[in-house]
Amino acid sequence: MAATISTGATELRDITKMERIGAHSHIRGLGLDDRLEPRTSSQGMVGQAKARKAAGMILKMVQEGRIAGRAMLFAGPPSTGKTAIALGMAQTLGADVPFTMIAASEVFSLSMSKTEALTQALRRSIGVRIKEETEIIEGEVVEMQIDRSLTGATKTGKLTIKTTDMETVYELGTKMIDALSKEKVTAGDVIAIDKTSGKVSKLGRSFARSRDYDAMGADTRFVQCPEGEVQKRKEVVHTVSLHEIDVINSRTQGFLALFAGDTGEIKPELRDQINTKVAEWREEGKAEIIPGVLFIDEVHMLDIECFSFLNRALENELSPLVIMASNRGMARIRGTKFRSPHGLPVDLLDRVLIVSTSPYSEDEIAQIIKIRCEEEDVNLAEGALMVLTKIAGDNTLRYALNLISTAQVIARKRKSAQVEVDDVRKVYGYFMDEKRSVQWLKEQQGQLVFEEIGGEAREDAMDTS
Ligand code: ATP
Repeated sequence: MAATISTGATELRDITKMERIGAHSHIRGLGLDDRLEPRTSSQGMVGQAKARKAAGMILKMVQEGRIAGRAMLFAGPPSTGKTAIALGMAQTLGADVPFTMIAASEVFSLSMSKTEALTQALRRSIGVRIKEETEIIEGEVVEMQIDRSLTGATKTGKLTIKTTDMETVYELGTKMIDALSKEKVTAGDVIAIDKTSGKVSKLGRSFARSRDYDAMGADTRFVQCPEGEVQKRKEVVHTVSLHEIDVINSRTQGFLALFAGDTGEIKPELRDQINTKVAEWREEGKAEIIPGVLFIDEVHMLDIECFSFLNRALENELSPLVIMASNRGMARIRGTKFRSPHGLPVDLLDRVLIVSTSPYSEDEIAQIIKIRCEEEDVNLAEGALMVLTKIAGDNTLRYALNLISTAQVIARKRKSAQVEVDDVRKVYGYFMDEKRSVQWLKEQQGQLVFEEIGGEAREDAMDTS
């Protein structure tokens, strides 16, 4: 099995690694200058200078491959940009450094054990950069269109099309190499490629056998191998994650599972084989390990088993940088009776670099609101901006940002291109923030159905309140 481990690189080229998240779509990076100093407002980022700088420093180490197996914690009140900064880091990392983002609660909701879910998340965050040598044809690739209505052998040769598009040249060249190695095609020969099945067949260098062409499907492409020097070596590099290699090689799943997202549990023996194989590739200089980033939001939702698993996993040679975020102060460590800062066990806290985020100033809030308005294409009146800024200060920034698009709906209804104070006031009345919601619940005592909670659930509720 180990000998045939495949990376499935060709099939994976099109998989997008990160979903775009609406609420943070304005974040395009950390907004740092070359010396890692935070610019006041750049790449959609405003304020939170210390945390951004710290994130930038860590990022630099990740890019230099110096910080595998470490952990970092963003700790701060709700809506202070913990997730936004993590996403800014992801944007800065570049396409072939993996960045995985999970909410801690997802670990419990998947149809697999907690540790398997964490293992998959960790392995998604390790990239394997594979170098492969491909031989391509040097010279011009000539693609021919055969006019099927012509039966005379000599006439077909006149309908020659020269391909200038490099992608096509590369693709056709690769097919020819296949044909060259499998069917002993020589320069000048014509090969036929069935577009649907990808089957390559050799037709010889003359076009005399026109009946052969007729027998082929309408979707067949004809290509002539260039004359002269035919082969050239080219290095192709692609990056896949360890998890992708696991799934492609898991007998029960196959690579289609990657698209379905339903990968199930993967056997530890298979992972061991893959680790061994990757280590071999590395020694032979064929592969490079790229430790990426695993971001775990609401990390206090993990339980003690997950924490001890993570603690161990961080010691593993193949470990990414783990970034966690929590808005909890002292909280119970789930699965225990003990309380601890941010709900994290002390031994884990001990190895974590903690970066704190703090509430924004009014100016910063106003700037973030303006950026979001631009992003959402909303024209906000000066007065409405002041009201939203005040609302963000009294509640959370996220609540205020949520009101932008809803206020725009109201403005549109009254056929105005601009969102005014009144529109904001209306949506503020329609949608409750957390504080008013709690107040309303108190007023509704006896009207709503209240659930009795006891035992551990009560402790949970107390800790999260
Ligand atoms: P929670 O603890 O509730 O998960 P959080 O600290 O992760 O909150 P975010 O979700 O990052 O907060 O921020 C709330 C909203 O404010 C998001 O839309 C985010 O993009 C935006 N935001 C936060 N900080 C900044 C910033 N410094 N610059 C620009 N936008 C920001």
